[in-house]
Amino acid sequence: MGKKKAAFAQQEVQVRSEAPRPMRKISYPLRFTPMTVETAEDITPTMRRVVMAPVRPSPREPFESQALMGEYVRVVVPPTGAPEVPEPQWQEGTRGLWPVWQKPAPPSRKYTVRNYWSQTQRVEINVTLHEKGPGSDWARSVQPGATTYVLGPKSGYRVSYDYDFYLMVCDQTGLPGVARWLEQLPSTAGGHVFVKIPAETSVQDLTAPPGMQISWVLPPQDLAGTVMASPRPAGYVFTWIAGESTSIKPLRSWIRHEWGLSKSDGYSSGYWKDKSLR
Ligand SMILES: Cc1cc2nc3c(=O)[nH]c(=O)nc-3n(C[C@H](O)[C@H](O)[C@H](O)COP(=O)(O)OP(=O)(O)OC[C@H]3O[C@@H](n4cnc5c(N)ncnc54)[C@H](O)[C@@H]3O)c2cc1C
Repeated sequence: MGKKKAAFAQQEVQVRSEAPRPMRKISYPLRFTPMTVETAEDITPTMRRVVMAPVRPSPREPFESQALMGEYVRVVVPPTGAPEVPEPQWQEGTRGLWPVWQKPAPPSRKYTVRNYWSQTQRVEINVTLHEKGPGSDWARSVQPGATTYVLGPKSGYRVSYDYDFYLMVCDQTGLPGVARWLEQLPSTAGGHVFVKIPAETSVQDLTAPPGMQISWVLPPQDLAGTVMASPRPAGYVFTWIAGESTSIKPLRSWIRHEWGLSKSDGYSSGYWKDKSLR
């Protein structure tokens, strides 16, 4: 092929009309749902599965999840040292009844919807256990029958299944989202998942299409460095990055510059902050 023809062919590959549809954000009506914890159990030594069901399932205004990427809820947890979430006052607001707590209000933490069963409106979250923190403490000690309050999910993202390659990079906090997404991808999907975990005992069984390679990144390996050693895959690539805010920053810009991907071809979010890194 002559130089001019080759340049023309390259231009043709970049024609946007052939590209997958850009990611779309879908918003849901916002709800605050009182929930009863049904089960709380270890998945691995560093993660706990908690399944909750609405105290009063509502056929008219159900707790809602559409299995979209990035759906998360805010779970109200007891203040550190307290045995349970105090009961709120319910006040009529623009979105219906809304809970209000006496100050200081109990903290809430964000957790991805790992599973949702529409008939019973039950929801599963997977909580990473770290040394301390109200969310981790709650997940460690909560018992079936406990009441909590769940805000959301308020939105999710619809990602095209027409990408040639899906790159997913996360630490344990992103694992519930990756696990759910892998179960939903078409069987023909191809890509690579990198998950940073603290030890081999934190590896989980994931159900994934055969074309999705899964790499567990263990200490002393560095997550960003491991990903950056990969060659750019051919074709249209979608990237999903979630983890500690400071450590994912270099990866985010590396992917843009080195792999030449645009913002709409990816999702990236700092899921927590390691204060020792600043
Ligand atoms: C959209 C979104 C979805 C998320 N989904 C999930 C999910 O499904 N599962 C999940 O486990 N987390 C998830 N997270 C992260 C989770 O919200 C945070 O890790 C949260 O701060 C944990 O709360 P905590 O009360 O246990 O600790 P905090 O009180 O927030 O923190 C206490 C101390 O622990 C450190 N710390 C906080 N988180 C971690 C961590 N993960 N590992 C090590 N040290 C930490 C902090 O730097 C701090 O020093 C998500 C976050 C976002 C933004």
